[in-house]
Formats: sequence, C-alpha cells, structure tokens
Amino acid sequence: MAGWSLDRSGRNLRFLTPLSKRLKASKFSEKRVQRKLLDILACPIDKNYPLELMEFKLKDEIIVDGVLLCGKCKRFYPIIDEIPVMLPDSLRNRKEDLEFLSRWIRE
Ligand SMILES: [Zn+2]
Repeated sequence: MAGWSLDRSGRNLRFLTPLSKRLKASKFSEKRVQRKLLDILACPIDKNYPLELMEFKLKDEIIVDGVLLCGKCKRFYPIIDEIPVMLPDSLRNRKEDLEFLSRWIRE
C-alpha cells in the first residue's frame, strides 16, 4: 500500500510505494541521481563547491571510478566503486591515494 508511514525508529517519515513502482523509479533515475549528488558535494577542508569532476570509468553512465577536484585548495577526492571518499587530510593515506591515481593518470 502506498502512503506515508513512520520507520522502525519512530523518528523518520517515509513514503511507501508498492515495490514494483519503486524498482521502476530507481532504474529510471539512478544515473541522474549520482551526478546530482556529486554536484552538491563540497570540499571538506574549505567548503568550496562545486568540485570539478574527472570520470575514469563509467558503467551505464554511472561513475564507478573518478576523481573530484577542488579548484580552491587543489585537493582531490577519489570516487571508488561509485562512492566519493571525502576524507580530511588526517585520515588520508598518501600511498593509497597515489596508487589510485596512478591506475588512471599517466604522466
Ligand atoms: Zn578545497
């Protein structure tokens, strides 16, 4: 049954649609949703946005691997397996960052 309902925690409202409708809806909009999400991401260091997007590997127009570049501080944030990894410097591993980049960027 379609309609608004509370989730199990009792705090969040959600709109329930029949499963068949939900599946169709997600197939239709999936591609655009990811790009929209990338558009609103800001650099965690200086809050600069939008970030510049470099696409390395696409699957059905969804970015699997890529990079988000901050034009202000010049940091980059990898997109790995469709997920943008927006970590501050203290949590980043320089070696892993470089390994990821070197897979895609040739000098
Ligand atoms: Zn920045």
